[in-house]
Amino acid sequence: MKPAPFAYRKARSFDEAVSLLGEHADARLLAGGQSLIATLNMRLSAPSLLIDINGLGGLDRIEAKDGTVTIGALTRHTQAERSDAIARHAPLIASAMPHIAHPAIRNRGTIGGSIAFADPAAELPACLLALGGEVEASGPSGKRTIKADDFFVDLYETALRPGEMLTAIRVPAASAETRTGFAELARRHGDYAIVGLAATARAKGQGLADVRLAFFGVGNTALRARKAEAALESGGVDAAVAALDLAPHDDIQATGPEKKHLAGVLLRRVAKQMMEPRA
Ligand SMILES: Cc1cc2nc3c(=O)[nH]c(=O)nc-3n(C[C@H](O)[C@H](O)[C@H](O)COP(=O)(O)OP(=O)(O)OC[C@H]3O[C@@H](n4cnc5c(N)ncnc54)[C@H](O)[C@@H]3O)c2cc1C
Repeated sequence: MKPAPFAYRKARSFDEAVSLLGEHADARLLAGGQSLIATLNMRLSAPSLLIDINGLGGLDRIEAKDGTVTIGALTRHTQAERSDAIARHAPLIASAMPHIAHPAIRNRGTIGGSIAFADPAAELPACLLALGGEVEASGPSGKRTIKADDFFVDLYETALRPGEMLTAIRVPAASAETRTGFAELARRHGDYAIVGLAATARAKGQGLADVRLAFFGVGNTALRARKAEAALESGGVDAAVAALDLAPHDDIQATGPEKKHLAGVLLRRVAKQMMEPRA
């Protein structure tokens, strides 16, 4: 299929992009195009205008400073995958990157596009949620910060307001006590996950505290399993699997009960990763 007709503008400045977004209610930002172009070609989306933000400078910075890692919206997946700062200070994101699609897609796809698109089976929204990170949104009224817990609203729906653009994400930099774990099950490497889990915790004696388990592929958004988090802190991995508070629906990849079983399998793998000290 071919897309419905649309106009195209290459934004020359951030202000121009925001002003075009304000003028055209059904416009879409074009970042890496790896999800947007497919939805246009399948006519799942028919915006009247594409606003190309690829030429905007300063939106592809990766910075680790004062205990926070900031990743600009136009950072390509490959750039994040190869970043020393991310490997060192945001190891959860580093371990998720190779699972995102294939190298050709990672060369173009952006961090901002992935978070804004909010695919429920995508890796990065779950990482942002597990890390307790935040989104920087910029629009006609200036900048605001949205916590990851509040950002993913429903299927492909986020807390971004009309006219707003995601300009960066921020996550806490890992410390010596930080523990992270990541695992997913997909039919082939590079496919969207059937089920996945991104997790963080703080080492506390022989156990874990401040556990955050963000599952993906199990609902309309990445989801925290809060009862399992509490059980992993107080009772260990068997208790956490028994407490898994997820109710996945069937989809084309697996039935709901199969997904729930796989979530338990992943929880055991990830809990084991988190019990090991950081290398
Ligand atoms: C074959 C294939 C396999 C894939 N497999 C995976 C996978 O396993 N895991 C995974 O996570 N992803 C996967 N993807 C998607 C890929 O990661 C995309 O790069 C990503 O989802 C979107 O990023 P993008 O920069 O290409 O965004 P685009 O396609 O340009 O945009 C996507 C949406 O986000 C909006 N948007 C983009 N940037 C911004 C911004 N800064 N502010 C506000 N809105 C914005 C756009 O308007 C559009 O609605 C796959 C894609 C393909 C084609």
